[in-house]
Amino acid sequence: MTKYIFVTGGVTSSLGKGIIAASLAKLLQARGYRTTIQKFDPYINVDPGTLNPYEHGECYVTEDGAETDLDLGHYERYLNTFTSQANNVTTGRIYQYVINKEREGAYLGKTVQVIPHITDEIKRRMTLLGQDGQYDIVITELGGTVGDIESLPYIEAVRQLKWEMGDSCIVVHLTLIPYLKAAKELKTKPTQHSVKMMSENGLTPDVLVCRTEEPLYQELRRKIALFCNVTPEAVIEALDADTIYSVPLEMMREKLDLICLQKLGLAKGTEPELGKWKDFLNKLRYPKSKVTIGLIGKYVELQDAYKSILEGLIHAGAMNECKVEVRNIHSEHLTLENAVEKLNNVDAILVAPGFGSRGIEGKIEAIRYAREKNIPFFGICLGMQMACVEFARNVLHMDKAHSTEMNPDTNQGVIAMMEEQKKITQMGGTMRLGSYDCELRSDSKTAAIYGSTHISERHRHRYEFNNDFINDYENAGMIPVGKNPKTGLVEVVEIPTHPFFVGVQFHPEYKSTVENPHPLFVAFVKAAKENHERKNNPSHVFEKSVAE
Ligand code: GLN
Repeated sequence: MTKYIFVTGGVTSSLGKGIIAASLAKLLQARGYRTTIQKFDPYINVDPGTLNPYEHGECYVTEDGAETDLDLGHYERYLNTFTSQANNVTTGRIYQYVINKEREGAYLGKTVQVIPHITDEIKRRMTLLGQDGQYDIVITELGGTVGDIESLPYIEAVRQLKWEMGDSCIVVHLTLIPYLKAAKELKTKPTQHSVKMMSENGLTPDVLVCRTEEPLYQELRRKIALFCNVTPEAVIEALDADTIYSVPLEMMREKLDLICLQKLGLAKGTEPELGKWKDFLNKLRYPKSKVTIGLIGKYVELQDAYKSILEGLIHAGAMNECKVEVRNIHSEHLTLENAVEKLNNVDAILVAPGFGSRGIEGKIEAIRYAREKNIPFFGICLGMQMACVEFARNVLHMDKAHSTEMNPDTNQGVIAMMEEQKKITQMGGTMRLGSYDCELRSDSKTAAIYGSTHISERHRHRYEFNNDFINDYENAGMIPVGKNPKTGLVEVVEIPTHPFFVGVQFHPEYKSTVENPHPLFVAFVKAAKENHERKNNPSHVFEKSVAE
C-alpha cells in the first residue's frame, strides 16, 4: 500500500520546501523505495504557463508537455526520474474540474461546496499517483504557508486523509528558527505559533524541519518538541547550506529519512550509498578551473527566471571540474556600441529563451559578437531563433529578417508560425509543448555530443525556423543539423566553421540532472574552458591541438 508524506511550510515563504521535499525523496529512493513528488499550488491560475517570470520564476515543462511550477525541476534533477501533468495541481485546476462536473449535472442538484466537493477532488488528486502500485511513497509539497486563506482547503484535505489512512500518512512541517543577533539567541516562538495555527485546523505535524542559521542545541530541540507535540528525534535541523545539492546529505545526517520511515511503519531499507551524488558534490566544491559565461536575457535580475539553465550549468561545471561563474547581462542594455565592453571578458555566451520583443536587439548583438569573434555560443529556443535572425541579417544580407512574433509584417520571416501550428492556435492550444523526437545529421557536432543521431527533447514555443529559407542558410554555412523526423521542422542549427555555435529550438535545460548532466551543457562548458585556456595561454593550446 502506498504511503503519503505531506510537506507543509510555516512562518515564512522561501524556506526551501521544494529542496527539503526533493532531498527527502532522494534519500527514500536511495533506500530502495519507489518515490515520487508532487506539488499542490494554492493559486487560482489553472497552470503556471500564463504566469510572468516576475510572479513565479521559470515555468518548468515535463515530458508530457505540462507547464508546471519550477519545483518540479528540482524533483527531476534530484530523483533523476520524470514527473508529469499529474505531479502539479493548482486550485484553478481543482475548481475548473469541479465546476465542469457541476455543469454536466454530476452532482445531481446538490449544493456544491468547498467541503466536501473541493476537498474530495483535492484528496482524489493527492492519492492519484499512488493508485496503480507504481510508487511506494508519494511526497506532496503544499505550496504557500500555513495560515494563508488559500491553503485552508488543502490543510483540511490532509487532515481528512490522515484520519482515513492513519499511519500511512504523515506531515513534515518546514519552519524557521530565527537567530536574534541582539539577544544572541535562537527563537522558537514563530515555530510554536505556526504549529498552533495548524492544530487549530485539526492537523499536527509528525516531523519538524527547522531552518536555522545556527545549530540547534539539545535543550532547544527538547523545547521545540515539547511545545509542538513531536518527539525530540523528530526535530530536524536544516542549517543554511553552501549549495542546495548538499541538503540530501545534511538531511541524511539528521536522519530525516529514518524518522519518516519509522513513523510510516516502513523498514529502513538499504543504507543510502549516493556515490554518484557525493562525487558530483566533491567536484562542485573543489573545481580545478573557472570560466565566466555571459547569460543574455531580459529577466537576468530574477534569480528564479532561468532556474533550469543555471542548474544545468552547475551540473555541467562539475562534470568539467570547473567553476562556472554566470555573468548576467541584461539584453535590453546591450547595444552595438557597448557589446565589446560588456562581452569581452566572458568565455562563452548563452542566449536565453523568452517571449516578446523587449531586449531582442541586444540578444541579436550578443549573437553577432559570439559568431564574429569565435566565442562559444549556445542559443536556447528564442536564443536559437535569434541566431537565425542574426545570420539572415548579417550574412544573408536580409536586412528585414525577423521572427514574425516580433515583426508580423516582414516578408523575411525566417522564424514564423507554421500553417499546422496556426490551425492548433485556432483550437486554443497555442504552444508546441513537451517531448518531440529529433533526428541529427551524423556528421554534426551535436550528434557527436549526444553520441547518438536520435534524440528527444522538450519544447515550449509557437514559432519555428521557416524552411523556405533552408537552402540559403546551408549555402552560407549555418546548417540545420537536427530536424523533427515527422514534420521536418528544424530543431538544431550549427555553424561548423565556428569553434562552438549551437542553437536549439528545444529546451535541454529541463532534462539536466545531477546524475545525468545534459551533454549539450557539458560540451558548452568544455568549449568555454577551451576558449578560456586559448585566451590565457595561446601557445599551450596551439601545441596541444597540433599534438592531437
Ligand atoms: N517566443 C518564441 C516562440 O514562441 C520562443 C519561446 C521560448 O524561448 N521558449 O517560439
